[in-house]
Amino acid sequence: MKAVTIAGKKQLKVTETETPKADGSKVLVEVAKVGICGSDLHMWENGDRVGLIMGHEFCGKVVDPGALKDTLNVGDRVTVLPLNPCGECINCKHGKVNNCVNGLAASPGITAPGAYTEFFAARPDMVRKLPDTVSDDEATMIEPTAVALRAVHLGGVQPGDKVLVTGGGIIGLLCAAWARIAGASYIALTEANPKRAEKALEMGDVDEVFDAKDEELVKKLLTASKGGFDQALECAAVAPAVNTTIQSLKYGGKLVLVGVNYSPVPVSTLLIVLRELEVKGTIGYAPEEFDQSIELMAKKVIETERFISRTVGLDGVQDAFEQLTSGDNPDVKIIIQP
Ligand SMILES: [Zn+2]
Ligand SMILES: [Zn+2]
Repeated sequence: MKAVTIAGKKQLKVTETETPKADGSKVLVEVAKVGICGSDLHMWENGDRVGLIMGHEFCGKVVDPGALKDTLNVGDRVTVLPLNPCGECINCKHGKVNNCVNGLAASPGITAPGAYTEFFAARPDMVRKLPDTVSDDEATMIEPTAVALRAVHLGGVQPGDKVLVTGGGIIGLLCAAWARIAGASYIALTEANPKRAEKALEMGDVDEVFDAKDEELVKKLLTASKGGFDQALECAAVAPAVNTTIQSLKYGGKLVLVGVNYSPVPVSTLLIVLRELEVKGTIGYAPEEFDQSIELMAKKVIETERFISRTVGLDGVQDAFEQLTSGDNPDVKIIIQP
């Protein structure tokens, strides 16, 4: 089968690899669509996982139901939770499978083969049948939607809250969408790329977009929020953005760190102390949040297809990665049709 693999720093290549075989246990899925995730862009920029097939936001049709032969049929549309919890560690035993201490050992598309290819062999307990009202395009959005849902859950956004989102990439926009659904009365976004800022306004999930590079940014945010935000969902993971959230929260406000930065980020702890801010990190999602995302998409509570700019084939992935990291591209989501 054809697959896209990492070939080096900022280098992908289309190659032939062995097609996974039905083994009576794994569910063999023919990949229909797969999303390009921000974490894929990071792995591509680092280029150290040479040979890896990325792709963890995908859907497809069942070719062989394996262990699920009593509940799944050939041709059923499915998506897969890209998790590989061990089931044995302390976190797994407490139901926190997204915090599995062994979870990164063979995580699809991160440390094990993913879905930038034609076929994928899935762990049966991670397979979810798709409702008819969730399209293939929407199905590629379930995973990032679940990431944002968890951030809003952990932030505890309440009706009437004022929410600040930093970073207008797909996770930032989805956080804004969930915050609105949760009842936020005012949502501000900070974004450095003017094309993305424009797109975010167009999407309508945020009330106002502020230039992340504006020297008066904090002053403007404090005025707009009438003295400070209840919550900040930090999705940019760079020092200026994190410090903006700390400076713009109200006394006792809550900061949820959603963005990932592999390097240390210098922040002013003084304001956290003086304002008694609450700071929380979030990673991934619980399986329930993944399932809730499917359910709420099926009911059209959250609409995600609108975030997808375009679809490329396996041959177009290198170019899509270059566009997405160019810094002046309006696209927040590109999907692949293998
Ligand atoms: Zn992802
Ligand atoms: Zn575990």
